[in-house]
Amino acid sequence: MQRFDLKDGGVPSRERAITAAVAALDRGRLVAVPTETVYGLAADATNAPAVAGIYAAKGRPSFNPLIAHVCDIDMAMAHGILSPLARQLAGTFWPGPLTLVVPRRVGAEASVASIADLVTAGLETIALRMPANGVTLDVIRRLGRPIAAPSANRSGGISATSADDVIAELGPSVSVVLDDGASPVGVESTIVLLAEAAPRLLRPGGVPREAIERAIGQPLADNDHEPDDPQRPLAPGMLTSHYAPNARVRLDVTALEPGEAFLGFGPFFPEGLDKAVASANLSATGNVVEAACNLFRLLRELDRSGAAAIAVAPVPGGGLAEAIRDRLGRAAAPRR
Ligand code: AMP
Ligand code: MG
Repeated sequence: MQRFDLKDGGVPSRERAITAAVAALDRGRLVAVPTETVYGLAADATNAPAVAGIYAAKGRPSFNPLIAHVCDIDMAMAHGILSPLARQLAGTFWPGPLTLVVPRRVGAEASVASIADLVTAGLETIALRMPANGVTLDVIRRLGRPIAAPSANRSGGISATSADDVIAELGPSVSVVLDDGASPVGVESTIVLLAEAAPRLLRPGGVPREAIERAIGQPLADNDHEPDDPQRPLAPGMLTSHYAPNARVRLDVTALEPGEAFLGFGPFFPEGLDKAVASANLSATGNVVEAACNLFRLLRELDRSGAAAIAVAPVPGGGLAEAIRDRLGRAAAPRR
């Protein structure tokens, strides 16, 4: 495994890193890429065996489709059918933490390699996103094809927001790791479905719902599908149990129980805090942007304390708080 540190800012090392990553992807290998949301485990999206390698490395169920990451709107339009509304959203929020699920373009031009069916898990729609990370965008541009990239962690576990997290969990499966420091947004992209009469929010994430509704001048419909029903694969990946640490997770606590670690938010002190096994705060000032950025790192940190459970303070409010509550709710859901 080759690891490249991009934080030193040198042009030669950046070039070497991009060249190594593109060569590995071109040979069907897996590359860990930084994005503004979380680290991705990437493969060439047009190479079916390489994409199969992502599912194997993560232990991910193959009915859970992947997001195809593109370097510009033209590459998105080569593989998906973008309505005027989809183009408006891409124009407003790309590059950035917004994924658009649109009808798949079938029989694309002969010069365009088609996306492996495994990426879309056989659906007639495709999830597309242009991430806001300069190095990863250069890798995609140089490769000339989209990369399929779910979060770089074992399926069902806590997402990876640093290169060290990726290596600890998936090291042996990855050929190249591009280390660009901590992921600045810290939660996954917002996913909007644009394949029905009205746009639908499939997953809250890094772009607040309110910002999208303001941009398009209409409300987003809610995700109404049964989360764990593989017969209705509208958004098969929205499994109820996800992002789970080894410890149990208990939400909206007002009092700690013995043996628990505490994850706080803002100036909130539950009863029994002095007896906590470990404690951390998502944001001492109650800032949801800071809280999102710290979420997965602190869940991992508290999990390492060996506590039987992680008790979490309420995280009220709008904006990114919706995505944080979504992730915490799944982390707390009964495990399968
Ligand atoms: P992850 O890569 O772990 O952030 O998960 C990607 C999410 O995108 C999963 O929850 C998938 O269910 C969702 N997704 C990907 N492709 C589609 C699609 N064509 N339709 C609906 N949801 C999708
Ligand atoms: Mg994930």
